[in-house]
Amino acid sequence: MTNAHAGRGIDTSRPHSARMYDYYLGGKDHFEVDKHAAETVASVYPGIFACARENRAFMHRATRVLATEHGIRQWLDIGTGVPTEPNLHQVAQSAVPDARVVYADNDPLVLKYAERLMRSTPQGRTAYIEADVNDPESLLTAPELTEVLDLTVPVALSLNALMHFVTDAQDPYGIVHRVLDILPSGSALALSHCTPDFDPETWQKVTDIYTDAGTPVQFRSQKDVTRFFDGLDLLDPGVVVGHRWRPEASPQDTAATAATEPLTDATVSLWTGVAIKP
Ligand code: SAH
Repeated sequence: MTNAHAGRGIDTSRPHSARMYDYYLGGKDHFEVDKHAAETVASVYPGIFACARENRAFMHRATRVLATEHGIRQWLDIGTGVPTEPNLHQVAQSAVPDARVVYADNDPLVLKYAERLMRSTPQGRTAYIEADVNDPESLLTAPELTEVLDLTVPVALSLNALMHFVTDAQDPYGIVHRVLDILPSGSALALSHCTPDFDPETWQKVTDIYTDAGTPVQFRSQKDVTRFFDGLDLLDPGVVVGHRWRPEASPQDTAATAATEPLTDATVSLWTGVAIKP
């Protein structure tokens, strides 16, 4: 994508996490500056491509498991990213055609492509909100959200590869719990989060690259990622590295099948988990 395509409010002079992630996934919706930053990350952590693919595959499996085994019909996906097919609503609606999905992201580029997230089944509904997870109250009271989601019946909160962009100083645990507090019993949390646990030195370098590019990040340990699920009932197998979360749930979504060699925990470096609110 060239800068000439940049829309209003899209800063093409600095890399942005959503567009770097699009590059990791082999997409086309990023600029030179994003490609450069993403390649710098890949030069210190070549696993980033597998990490991004496994993150997507986890989202597919978690969504399908929540739909088919836990009766979830509604999702709130914050930190949606540049649309990459299949998007969450397509996975959910392939299992339950009347699924309702509200997407939210704070990147204007994601807004630009939001119509791709609106291609709902006739029975279901989708909406997109430009919103910041750091202000959950505005997000939860947005008319687009309350028109699509019925907050008196369970909702799955999907926070995939988002919370490592919220540092401890921004109260990440408080934010997640403020959202979960307004969701009824039977709601769910599906979360993925990059981790330095398997290779702290490399992840310090990745942290420095993002921070120097103007995006503060905080990659967390398994213990700290598990804290996001406090007060919830974690589904088996608990908080595990992405490719180990219910790989049997949907083998065709396991990106490992595309890899030339078996994935290691260090390559994937992503904690994942799904839990139900009692
Ligand atoms: N959830 C998708 C995309 C992950 S990339 C997936 O797992 O495939 C992280 C996304 O979070 C990016 O699109 C970025 O724009 C968004 N993001 C980062 N900080 C955010 C914030 N404070 N509020 C809302 N979205 C944010």
